[in-house]
Amino acid sequence: MTNDQVEARLARVMERIGAAAERAGRRAEDVEILPVTKGHSPRAIEVVRELGVGRIGENRVPEAEAKRSALGPTPGVAWHLIGRLQRNKARRALRVFDVIESVDSVRLANTLSRIAEEEQRGPVDILVQVNTSGEAAKAGLEPEGALDAVGEICALPGLRVGGLMTLAPFTGDEAMLRTVFRGVAGLLARCRAEISGFQGRVLSMGMSNDFEIAVEEGSTRLRLGTVLLGER
Ligand SMILES: *Cc1c(COP(=O)(O)O)cnc(C)c1O
Repeated sequence: MTNDQVEARLARVMERIGAAAERAGRRAEDVEILPVTKGHSPRAIEVVRELGVGRIGENRVPEAEAKRSALGPTPGVAWHLIGRLQRNKARRALRVFDVIESVDSVRLANTLSRIAEEEQRGPVDILVQVNTSGEAAKAGLEPEGALDAVGEICALPGLRVGGLMTLAPFTGDEAMLRTVFRGVAGLLARCRAEISGFQGRVLSMGMSNDFEIAVEEGSTRLRLGTVLLGER
């Protein structure tokens, strides 16, 4: 991968985001891109940084640790964990990542909060992941109990809940994707209305195959791998 290739892909993606935002009466500036660098060499993170994108997403703790040590400091880049986190890797995750987008249980949230307090590192930025795939094996809180769970997580001292994240079902069924994204946007609105002190605004939803629909349905952060960086 070269800078020029990625730069051209980024420009094209931004055009598509702009068009989708316009269709929905939204502002393109309210939608940010999280380049997903998993499965690519550490160089991909440098490329993204050189293009001025201030964040990257990785889905595994060991892979991110290896890239961090290969690269050294990456000023101006926030590292986001977007893959499932086991509680026994929580401490390591907090050393490598700036944001944990994949908090999928109150138990995990408790563990992260406790470690953040122990290590006196100030509140950890997280998103709460909601399961919208309808598959039990997919990570995330079940939508029915999610409002209460987000309320409990918000009360933890070591965390700052920025919003919600979801991994939509892998389907070409546009109507289904739209329903899923709309549901998560609705849940965020309820969290804001019903959980006192909740100020989260982030909706991390939309990937290479469905990001335009996600923008139309209110996404504020698109997690984009293939469409930006090519096949893994
Ligand atoms: C890999 C991954 C993405 C990006 O997938 P693409 O289809 O390559 O854009 C987004 N979110 C999560 C959670 C992922 O694991």
